[in-house]
Amino acid sequence: MTQGPPPGASSGRGAEQTGRTAVAIIGGGVAGLSAAFLLRDAGLTVTVLEGSPRLGGKLAVSEVAGVSVDAGAEALLARRPEGTGIIADLGLAGELEVPGTTSAGIWTRGRVRPLPRRQFMGVPADFDELAASGIVSPRGVARARQDRSRPASEPGGDESVTTRVGGRLGIEVVDRLVEPLLGGVYAGRCEDLSFEATLPALAKAAHQHASLADAAASLLPPPADRDADGAAQPASPVFTTLTGGLGGLPAALAAASGAVVRTSAMVRELTRTVVGWRLTVGSADAPEWLDADAVIIAVPATPAGRLLAGAAGRVPATGQAAAALGEITYASMAIVTLAFPVHAFAEPLTGSGFLVPAVDGRAVKAVTFSTMKWPHLRRENPAVQVVRCSVGRLGEDAVLQRDDADLAALAAADLSAAIGVRGSPVDARVTRWGGGLPQYSVGHLHRVARIRAAIAAAPGLAICGAAYDGVGIPACIATARLAADQVLGYLGSQGVSARARR
Ligand SMILES: Cc1cc2nc3c(=O)[nH]c(=O)nc-3n(C[C@H](O)[C@H](O)[C@H](O)COP(=O)(O)OP(=O)(O)OC[C@H]3O[C@@H](n4cnc5c(N)ncnc54)[C@H](O)[C@@H]3O)c2cc1C
Repeated sequence: MTQGPPPGASSGRGAEQTGRTAVAIIGGGVAGLSAAFLLRDAGLTVTVLEGSPRLGGKLAVSEVAGVSVDAGAEALLARRPEGTGIIADLGLAGELEVPGTTSAGIWTRGRVRPLPRRQFMGVPADFDELAASGIVSPRGVARARQDRSRPASEPGGDESVTTRVGGRLGIEVVDRLVEPLLGGVYAGRCEDLSFEATLPALAKAAHQHASLADAAASLLPPPADRDADGAAQPASPVFTTLTGGLGGLPAALAAASGAVVRTSAMVRELTRTVVGWRLTVGSADAPEWLDADAVIIAVPATPAGRLLAGAAGRVPATGQAAAALGEITYASMAIVTLAFPVHAFAEPLTGSGFLVPAVDGRAVKAVTFSTMKWPHLRRENPAVQVVRCSVGRLGEDAVLQRDDADLAALAAADLSAAIGVRGSPVDARVTRWGGGLPQYSVGHLHRVARIRAAIAAAPGLAICGAAYDGVGIPACIATARLAADQVLGYLGSQGVSARARR
């Protein structure tokens, strides 16, 4: 890193500037660190600049009653290859854990009810199973059944989840099934979320099927996989995690990347120089400058937009990207992790937890029985059950203004109302995620296309992270791969890689 003047005051690259890097990566979350790891064999100097004192962004492990549990993302989708693939490349495949249970519930209409197995993100594929679950009223089930007799929908461009799913299956299915499932992913509202962007596989399947239930069925495995003798086989687990928590992944990526990784290195400004980019890093009082041939921006949409807006004077396309990034809003939430004595529950815990529809007006939107879902956690303290409560959806900021003790008490009260709990937790931890999840609102795919087109017009720039093609970890890693490939292509075309070899 160079103590030096802003780019207007110099050529931007002098012989005295020893802090140059081939690739600067702004943001040390899973996307930025994956990009660094994916560049490890390119023979380039790579520098990751993380603004906070801690690597990992939304991945973090914390200790509750002696158990190390994830306080951010806790489950990795195993059916996409990017997450498990990078873990295997890190040599950590042996640390992948299998869930102890996959059944989940929905707390609605007076009790926790089993989540139908034959559903795709809450869109039911089997109306008899839906009726038996009691999640939707008999009237709601009758409305949902009309999906199979209605003519095919003719959507006029992107629509909200409420418009598309509600139009086919009725609003009760949206409110009591789809909203809680999507709420678990985006903490957003179905009337704002884009059908195409949040349910892309279903949107694609819906082109082949008049009925949305049939489209959902086409995406599900057969009702029960059977072995050669006809015995039912458990389907392969949808989710996995790491023994020490997904919060361990960032440090492993950083260590294996071979990159220079700095924390407490907030990038405040990005400017185009004659031959590359200059990053202004650190406080206004003591700024540092880093010159880079190429830059990967791996921060959420809001800071990405700010950085790109600042570069628009010399590269107007970045201003267009900034405008589109500014349209992406974020939902805040908190994770309240509670540890109870194992015998505190009215009934022994079963299943992995439950979701709570927003229409039911509870503070808690999802509850994970962490030590049931991930049995390996029980080894750390067999005397407790760890329960993770998720609080806060888009527009519910008031509840998040409560102090930690209040929020923990609120979550414990909801838990007790749902499943019956005797006594208080023996330990609690509240982790706040301000602006934690981007909202893929109607028009998201077009917005991302605008961002990508504008970034492509800025030489040596790439973007990655949760704001674009999916918020889950595998999707973030996929964007990191794309960004790494784009930067390598650019550097190769400029002949920079030869100059900047380590
Ligand atoms: C509570 C919660 C639970 C989740 N659960 C799951 C789950 O179970 N499974 C799953 O797959 N996904 C889950 N997700 C989503 C997933 O964790 C995130 O989408 C993903 O981790 C985002 O990674 P990222 O690298 O894009 O961004 P981030 O993790 O946000 O990382 C960006 C980094 O950039 C840094 N930064 C910002 N501005 C600057 C700047 N100017 N200069 C330098 N650094 C900067 C930030 O400090 C941050 O560390 C969850 C998310 C949340 C909030």
